[in-house]
Amino acid sequence: MDVSYFRDLFPLTLPIAKNGVIWNGRTDEFSNIIGGGFEYSQEFGLTPYAKTGVYGYLDGKPRVHNGHDFAGPLESDLVMPLEKGWITYVGYEAGGYGNFLFFETETKTINGDTIKMEFVLAHATKIIATANKWYKRGDVLAKMGSTGMSTGPHTHFGGRPLLIKNGVASWACGDANSRGYVDLTDFFITKPIYNKQLLINQRMKLIKKKGEKDVYALDPKGKACLLINFDTYRAGLDMGIWTSDIQEVTQLPEMGQIIILTNNN
Ligand SMILES: [Zn+2]
Repeated sequence: MDVSYFRDLFPLTLPIAKNGVIWNGRTDEFSNIIGGGFEYSQEFGLTPYAKTGVYGYLDGKPRVHNGHDFAGPLESDLVMPLEKGWITYVGYEAGGYGNFLFFETETKTINGDTIKMEFVLAHATKIIATANKWYKRGDVLAKMGSTGMSTGPHTHFGGRPLLIKNGVASWACGDANSRGYVDLTDFFITKPIYNKQLLINQRMKLIKKKGEKDVYALDPKGKACLLINFDTYRAGLDMGIWTSDIQEVTQLPEMGQIIILTNNN
């Protein structure tokens, strides 16, 4: 089905708020108003984190990042982004979503088809909402965290359109590679501004392997790492990988600088 049916029926606000004010997706002005430091840190699709590595492939094909990541302070409010949403599932997944919840829209009928959408919010530090209950736009569902496969406090937000036939829901758009999830950019009433700088940020340390141009970024706990190839980074074509092969540690300079490590070239 055409994703525009869903976009028109289920407009979204961003799932992040503070003191009852929903974030408008702009890093500068609004972060200042609510004291945030919020960032749209990873888009939907073949993004740098999704392109390469263990996490980046599924059945031999590049696995798209099938949601949108928003970074911000730990314990920021994660809120219902729909006018009305039904919490279907609350759970924990150590190697993936961490603390997460799923919720759905109401069902609607269009051209004889019964449809709805399903959403996930992941990596929360704690879940506040309970399953099998309606919540309205802006209601606090969880608190932002870094549980599961995560390198820092952020929220993974994904959504997939569903078609219901004989009581059974199946993916209405997307594909196996994205597991039915779709790019929600056009669903957002106020479009968030993507911040590419967050690919490497000040929370991370850099590690370079001797004789190679690849650089690892290590999270504060020292476990999840990101690999950046400097040639592609300079060309604006960043690449990401998950690995634990670490050899040398160096402090990250200010954001926005090109980093050249000369010791072990
Ligand atoms: Zn994500």
